[in-house]
Amino acid sequence: MKIIMLGAPGAGKGTHAKHITQKYSIPAISTGDIFRENIKAGTELGKKAKGYMDAGKLVPDELVCDLVVDRINQDDCKNGYILDGFPRTIPQAEALTDALKKQDDAIDFAIEVKVPDDVIIERMSGRRVCKGCGATYHIKNVPPKKEGICDECGGEIILRDDDAPETVKKRLEVYHEQTAPLIEYYDKLGVLKAIDGTQSLEKCAEDIDKILG
Ligand code: AMP
Repeated sequence: MKIIMLGAPGAGKGTHAKHITQKYSIPAISTGDIFRENIKAGTELGKKAKGYMDAGKLVPDELVCDLVVDRINQDDCKNGYILDGFPRTIPQAEALTDALKKQDDAIDFAIEVKVPDDVIIERMSGRRVCKGCGATYHIKNVPPKKEGICDECGGEIILRDDDAPETVKKRLEVYHEQTAPLIEYYDKLGVLKAIDGTQSLEKCAEDIDKILG
């Protein structure tokens, strides 16, 4: 099963991807996480990506497409995968479609997580992430047991650079301009499904399970 999660930054794509991973035992691949790991490790890719990310812009397509195509050809993706944060532009979607077509393959589901902008802004201003292991929290909705300390690894919990309010606004603009057209793209391919991302996590998971069958 090959699945794409679509939706604005902060819509909950990563959280729902984790649910699918656990239930269907297929890996979730987050391009944002790959870039953050590369920045942390100080790689060339990380150095190239950081400026774009901190400004709330997209990393250029040529830095993303090959990386994802390589990743989905690895062994653990044999039974499928969930892409979280890719594709984000029409050229990226076309590159993915073409790469899969060469193997006589295609995406099975593109799941759009629908959340209005004002809810996204409220959510992201409270979002926090562990500097050590990347676990995510929300100061109101999912607080850590001890303020500022990660439940999982004891690391420091911080506001992601690109979750700063001005950057969030920029990321939403970029989403509407460059990523939202993918909804129509996958609708035309006949694989688009949508869930209401403002519901509880449990209800979202239930709706996803119904889609995936
Ligand atoms: P995310 O964690 O998915 O919100 O991604 C964080 C940031 O990484 C984005 O704002 C972009 O700067 C960059 N990024 C992640 N995935 C992509 C992609 N598919 N194409 C371009 N930039 C990306």
